[in-house]
Amino acid sequence: MTKFSDLNLNSKVLKAIDEAGYENPTPIQAGAIPAALEGRDVLGIAQTGTGKTASFTLPLITQLARGRARARMPRSLVLCPTRELAAQVAENFDTYAKHVKLTKALLIGGVSFKEQDILIDKGVDVLIATPGRLLDHFERGKLILNDVKVMVVDEADRMLDMGFIPDIERIFGLTPFTRQTLFFSATMAPEIERITNTFLSNPERIEVARQATASETIEQGVVMFKGSRKDREASEKRKVLRGLIDAEGEKLTNAIIFCNRKTDVDIVAKSLKKYKYDAAPIHGDLDQSQRTRTLEGFRNGELRILVASDVAARGLDVPSVSHVFNFDVPGHPEDYVHRIGRTGRAGREGKAITICVPRDEKQFDAVEKLIQKEIPRLDNPVKPTKPAEAKDDKPKSTRSRSSSKTEETVETTATNEETKSSRSRSSSGRSRSSSSRDDRSTNKVVGLGDHTPSFIGLSFEERMAS
Ligand code: AMP
Repeated sequence: MTKFSDLNLNSKVLKAIDEAGYENPTPIQAGAIPAALEGRDVLGIAQTGTGKTASFTLPLITQLARGRARARMPRSLVLCPTRELAAQVAENFDTYAKHVKLTKALLIGGVSFKEQDILIDKGVDVLIATPGRLLDHFERGKLILNDVKVMVVDEADRMLDMGFIPDIERIFGLTPFTRQTLFFSATMAPEIERITNTFLSNPERIEVARQATASETIEQGVVMFKGSRKDREASEKRKVLRGLIDAEGEKLTNAIIFCNRKTDVDIVAKSLKKYKYDAAPIHGDLDQSQRTRTLEGFRNGELRILVASDVAARGLDVPSVSHVFNFDVPGHPEDYVHRIGRTGRAGREGKAITICVPRDEKQFDAVEKLIQKEIPRLDNPVKPTKPAEAKDDKPKSTRSRSSSKTEETVETTATNEETKSSRSRSSSGRSRSSSSRDDRSTNKVVGLGDHTPSFIGLSFEERMAS
């Protein structure tokens, strides 16, 4: 087995690795580090959890240990799709470069330009940035990329999902042709293949096993769930989620709940809080300080449940999550693999449970096809709600009429969101019959047309239950 000491890393870097407690390089590290130190381009096909951050950070620090940066001309550039990931790479840098004198700057949104300008003006060895923010600085004339010797692109497939590929191409064009490129992606979509063929020169290609095949320690399950009525599906689904959480009892030490949409991240987190679960949301629209605080709390065990969007959770290094819940089946089957990869890390046991509604069944089939495995069907932990029982679907301590208001607000938002999506579906002509059925089941309010909130026409009891 390869040892870190066989890899030609700087002795100060080796010391930091030793202090971090790492015994041996992971496969992506053993493959990428020697090639990177020889100055070759690297194409790493690996996802988070494989040790890929160190596979580019360690050789980068070794290479930069000699030399010094000039004002406004960074010597290396690391591009990350999200602020959190960029911040995490910066943290890794601090860990591995603690015995080497190097300067770094983190260019991410939500931090003032002025502070970042001061750092850049002094000269930085390593610039870690999200593509948009980097280009903002460039366009303000504050940054010169002519001296970039090494450029790292991390999580390129996520960049593709987020529409950053044109920015990445532009940044490639702004850096010298002679630069070295270390490029990482979990998957090789055709567009990623094209970029690597265009901008990488004879790269060393290292592919590590997909996490789905590696993590046999993750117990998976799915609840196939259909709402009793379309306008109740969202709230009933949240009830199923609570049932699943409760069923895990103390085995659930901490969990990440994934939703496909930011609005649902907010709604689910708010609803869980309302029901006295220790939960908080994280997604791209929340301000940076709040995101940092939430993450910090989750990492150090103060927060039990993190409700997240894929983008926000991507690459987050939270070492021991006992449970992952997919409140929605992800749109891309690869995301399922990323999501469940948050649990069962480093040989620990983990559990991943998905809730699948009828309209997501096709997507769920795609997930099973990708992982080449049938995911066991679980019973719905919640008994079907009869109308007479509906009012029991309220937090125990908040059954008074006044305090149910908050939940009603939450539910109303959800209902409006549902209405929106059913409107867009019906506009594409797919659910004409169901929308006319909805019209019959609600007392349509003249003048509101399609904008009639679906709770109008329900009794107070029904509204409270929804
Ligand atoms: P990454 O894939 O970069 O997100 O890394 C996942 C986790 O593995 C991080 O917590 C790293 O600190 C840790 N890690 C990276 N390299 C090693 C190693 N060689 N041995 C043990 N842990 C490692």
